Amino acid sequence: MTLIMKNINKLLLITASLMVVNSYAQTKMNFPDIPGYQTLKCDFHLHTVYSDGSVWPNFRVMEALRDGLDVIAMTDHIDFESYPEFIEKDYNKPYEIAGKAAEGKKLIVINGGEISPRVSPYHNNAIFLKDVNKLPIDYMQTTEKKFVMKDHIDKKELIAPFLEAQKQDAFVFYNHPGYAWWDKKDTAIFTGLHKELHEKGIIKGIEVVNGRYNIIAHRIAEKYNLTLLGNSDAHADVFYTYRTSHRPVTLAFVKDKTEEGVKEALKKKRTAVYVDDFIIARYPEADALFKASLETSFEKRVRNGEPILSVTIINKSDVPYSIRMTAPYNIENYPLGQMILKPHEPRTFVVKEMWDNPSLIELDVEVYNVVVSPEQNLRTKIQLQL
Ligand SMILES: [Zn+2]
Ligand SMILES: [Zn+2]
Repeated sequence: MTLIMKNINKLLLITASLMVVNSYAQTKMNFPDIPGYQTLKCDFHLHTVYSDGSVWPNFRVMEALRDGLDVIAMTDHIDFESYPEFIEKDYNKPYEIAGKAAEGKKLIVINGGEISPRVSPYHNNAIFLKDVNKLPIDYMQTTEKKFVMKDHIDKKELIAPFLEAQKQDAFVFYNHPGYAWWDKKDTAIFTGLHKELHEKGIIKGIEVVNGRYNIIAHRIAEKYNLTLLGNSDAHADVFYTYRTSHRPVTLAFVKDKTEEGVKEALKKKRTAVYVDDFIIARYPEADALFKASLETSFEKRVRNGEPILSVTIINKSDVPYSIRMTAPYNIENYPLGQMILKPHEPRTFVVKEMWDNPSLIELDVEVYNVVVSPEQNLRTKIQLQL
């Protein structure tokens, strides 16, 4: 690791520790649309009592509406049942029940399942499935109350549910890489089987956030050019788990607010992830979201004979952007040009000593908590035409 990278990491850590921690969960999350696309808040990884979750499917809808989400995917494990004596095995039911509960509401519910062997390729979600029950789970010995795989598993048996998902034109993504180091002989995390499924065009995305940020997953996402996803993987009440902050979400930048629109955005990798006070995204989405969040106005004045520019920025998103700004002129009052653009609060600063009366000012902005790669935060420019 180079010295620059180390310093950036250090800065990110310092910034994270300086940020405000809410004492209660912020349930509603506001994000602006970006040019050409609508911004949808999504959670593509949720469990219910149909596998190892603790809630009935309609509860996921109530939570999502409370949190202002636009999209949820029902993704119970297709190879485990907690309550076989009470609940008849049917992995389309969570979607059907939740779908009914969401009728007439502004929430898109997507059918899906989590393929969960404890050997490579480990856990993966298949979403936009038409019939979850068709995914074969021949690698399992017992699924009722106990999760027991066969002693000798054929590679074919492991790949079979993925091929069926592909047949149903599902979108498949790798969940929580490195969640458990089940196979210590194969610590590659993105194993030969993942590479094969990726080459077949089956695995297209990865959870860089599963409750928390995962740098290994982020590096894999870069290397294999996978869609970035961030989900809660909630098994119980989302509110309690994320009570000190907010649930993690994937932001999908869609052309239309429909299931097809969401699928198109995921396939084209137009996503960002919001976790704690961080945005994780590729540069184009990160830059567009940051810029769309800001409403900038300015006033040119002469103050005691000194030409100055008074600039006001209002952050219209719920992300407290922590920035450092440099300009070809001095910025008054903010050491190193650092400031936090708190959500929905105007922040005013003065650009000083503009003796040559410029017609354009370019502010170089570094946004500490917007992460565009595992080693780099967002650097961008704000242009002010005077
Ligand atoms: Zn589970
Ligand atoms: Zn899992």
